[in-house]
Amino acid sequence: PSGLDGTTVDVPTTTFDDIGGLEEPKRELTRAIEWPLVAPELFEDLNIEPPAGVLLYGPPGTGKTLLARAVASSSEANFVAVNGPELMNRYVGESERAVRRVFERARSNSPSVLFFDEVDAIGATRTQDSDSPATERVVSQLLTELDGVEGREGITVLGATNRPRRLDDALLRPGRFDRVVSVPLPDHAARAEIFRIHLADKNTAPFDSDGLAERTDGYTGSDIAAVVREAGLAAIESRLADASDPPATGDGHPAIRIEAEHLRHGL
Ligand code: ATP
Repeated sequence: PSGLDGTTVDVPTTTFDDIGGLEEPKRELTRAIEWPLVAPELFEDLNIEPPAGVLLYGPPGTGKTLLARAVASSSEANFVAVNGPELMNRYVGESERAVRRVFERARSNSPSVLFFDEVDAIGATRTQDSDSPATERVVSQLLTELDGVEGREGITVLGATNRPRRLDDALLRPGRFDRVVSVPLPDHAARAEIFRIHLADKNTAPFDSDGLAERTDGYTGSDIAAVVREAGLAAIESRLADASDPPATGDGHPAIRIEAEHLRHGL
């Protein structure tokens, strides 16, 4: 459900198995977010401070949002999502208050993962913005809230950005986004896995995931999802063209087959 403040709260069903590659970020998030949420007493007992916040950075479409949802799911935590640009634009002049409300929402839904997508829109370097007084106040509010998060109170803050250099340095200090995790483009093995994941629940002709990976160097996970969608639409098109009424379903009719022309849709 979407709140009046533009945030959404749900318990995601995405799992780490739905995400191809990204072994390092999965491991990092498990340690930094899942463990403190599911076994806070161990952190207490061993006197280990969990990170206050984790920042995911990498190109668009590489799976940052998926990772965030998956770790909320594996932690059995609520997922409270906030879009940075939306928070800044929708509440012009009131973004400061919106930041405060978002943290309240995360607290009242604890255990929770509070996810700021495109966090750089909020935390852009204060001096680099023309409307700096407003930006300045929003950033300081965000800093205040982050400082108020005790890792042990059942909320963890996760941020995602494509432009980590735009982030205000103050956000990266200890006790804030103090773990920075890279979410890179998928390599060959990861692309093959992403094709397998996206084709697994579909009616597909036999396919060669290695061959597909070979031909999609530089594609993101989201590009691969677009390729699969395009191939799916082509299969629907050819069934509709089969002149049968109603459209043909089931065995003997064209299944999804990824052709060269569909690959172009990724990029
Ligand atoms: P943005 O920076 O644009 O918000 P993002 O990094 O958050 O992008 P996601 O929203 O997580 O990217 O990914 C978009 C879609 O691309 C996903 O819903 C999924 O279908 C697909 N996708 C991306 N990465 C992967 C992956 N590693 N494994 C499987 N699917 C992926």
